[in-house]
Amino acid sequence: MSNTDETTAPAPTFAELGLADAVLDAVTSAGYETPSAIQAATIPVLLDGRDVVGLAQTGTGKTAAFALPILSNLDPKDVSSPQALVLAPTRELALQVCEAFERYASKMPGIRVLPVYGGQGYGPQLTALRRGVHVVVGTPGRIMDHLDKGTLDLSKLRFLVLDEADEMLNMGFAEDVETILADTPDSKQVALFSATMPPQIRRLSKKYLNNPEEIQIKSATKTNVNITQRYLMVSYPQKVDALTRILEVENFEAMIVFTRTKGETETLAEKLRARGFNAAAINGDVTQNVRERLVAQLKDGGLDILVATDVAARGLDVERISHVVNYDLPTDLEAYVHRIGRTGRAGRTGDAISFVTPRERYLLKAIEKHTKATPAEMRMPSADEVNATRLSRFDDQITEALNDTAKVEFFRDVVKHYVDEFNVPEVDVAAALAVVLQGDVPLLLEDRPEPVRRERTERTDRDRDRGDRGDRPGRGERGPRESSRSRGNGQPMAVYRISVGKRHRVEPRQIVGAIANEGGLRRGDFGNITIRPDFSLVELPADLAAETYRALEATRISGKLIELRPDEGGGSTGPKGGRGSSEHQDVDGGWSDQARKKPRRKD
Ligand code: AMP
Repeated sequence: MSNTDETTAPAPTFAELGLADAVLDAVTSAGYETPSAIQAATIPVLLDGRDVVGLAQTGTGKTAAFALPILSNLDPKDVSSPQALVLAPTRELALQVCEAFERYASKMPGIRVLPVYGGQGYGPQLTALRRGVHVVVGTPGRIMDHLDKGTLDLSKLRFLVLDEADEMLNMGFAEDVETILADTPDSKQVALFSATMPPQIRRLSKKYLNNPEEIQIKSATKTNVNITQRYLMVSYPQKVDALTRILEVENFEAMIVFTRTKGETETLAEKLRARGFNAAAINGDVTQNVRERLVAQLKDGGLDILVATDVAARGLDVERISHVVNYDLPTDLEAYVHRIGRTGRAGRTGDAISFVTPRERYLLKAIEKHTKATPAEMRMPSADEVNATRLSRFDDQITEALNDTAKVEFFRDVVKHYVDEFNVPEVDVAAALAVVLQGDVPLLLEDRPEPVRRERTERTDRDRDRGDRGDRPGRGERGPRESSRSRGNGQPMAVYRISVGKRHRVEPRQIVGAIANEGGLRRGDFGNITIRPDFSLVELPADLAAETYRALEATRISGKLIELRPDEGGGSTGPKGGRGSSEHQDVDGGWSDQARKKPRRKD
């Protein structure tokens, strides 16, 4: 058993792990800075040809831990039958693993990865299998169906991965998994990943794996008791909105917001600046000079929000940091402890807020176990709370301005002249001046339904292949408005909003081009597109995966981030009945100039 203790072992770089150059290239373009603990421990062992049993949860980076070494060892020329098979418990996970493989193979032209799951027609699967693929990612039920029918040849299989093995057994796939393990070549290399190690998995591993290396990430680090830990259940597309609401209502001094990749630090900082917050990005690509400047600004109050990756924030010691937000949960538990330790410095108290998507619940449990702390669940700040803060800031601004007696004296005469001349009450003049100050942006946030926690739904299918595991909004969770349209294959469409419109000289073909190319969608996935002055509405499949949102994070049209998100307003993509720009309220609410100012810390 190898126990990786990050506190003693210096983290290796991806370049030191022995991966193929094309794979390394893809990892760099994915924006990953350092291997997560499970990756650092697993990749060299798998590259060495050994079997692995890895104790790891979703969200730890385990997909790359097996996908990168498999891709490094594939024979690109051989598509006579699949070289690698990944078994996953659910359709959602199979699709996610597939998308991850495709991303990591992006610099290896010609590598074909096929998802195979129940509920999907056999036709396209058979065509793809006949054409030849390198990697198959599937649910055990459907893989068994193909084996029974003789439509999947695993006689030359070189790599077999059991992903979320405990979950597969819980879902009743034990027999299918054993059959697949037994009926594939003895020479294959096996990697088994499981969040827990029940006796059934031990037995499976003993029987079918060849002297496997057991990898478990261990650490005894505890978190600082001065730090209050909270978490917010949130779906991927809600994150920006959630963060901006938190920035408005939390009483913070300075904040570090952690994202997973370098690219995301830049795009998130840009989105926050566009909403009037004083934010900058820091990541491994930032030069030492810039880093020093940003840290100095954070210390002296010139900067309030730093959006950072783990690497960039290492060792940061700034007393002003009152809050840490894990916008993305870290890929390993030790990183969580390091991140939240950036606050609560020098005996002060600190706050740590983690965004948890439905499929990261497991990771939250692991964090609780690891840190011996139980983060409390928090609610998304309501529109009422946000508005109360905006109104009290509005009052504060008036009070502050009244203190500048010389200026007030001057304007008092100007206002008095108006009141006398036009016979208008003073309070109306004050209200009119507030209108001038506010501009077109509403002072108050429109009330919208709160996100509801997703309940797991039981579903049975002939293949016992379950879905419902992704970051997609579930029942009761805030999602895009359903559109009346459906795709040719009957899948429902929904209306999404992007932040580019007529003002940015955007045309439908640019929208389709950008979203299709960068989000990996097909032209057939698009429905109506309506271009309004400041934004556009696009009909897309209702079940867009978190990975698609992630892939579109940095997408720009006419130089502007598109910020794709579900449309929750009354906008219509149809020819009639749409809201005009004058009625338009941005998804994040109207950010007035006063609202943009950071609230003062009240203690
Ligand atoms: P997984 O546990 O495989 O589901 O991965 C969780 C998330 O972490 C995915 O969104 C990956 O893209 C991301 N990820 C995986 N490895 C790394 C890494 N070394 N650095 C940053 N993000 C990563």
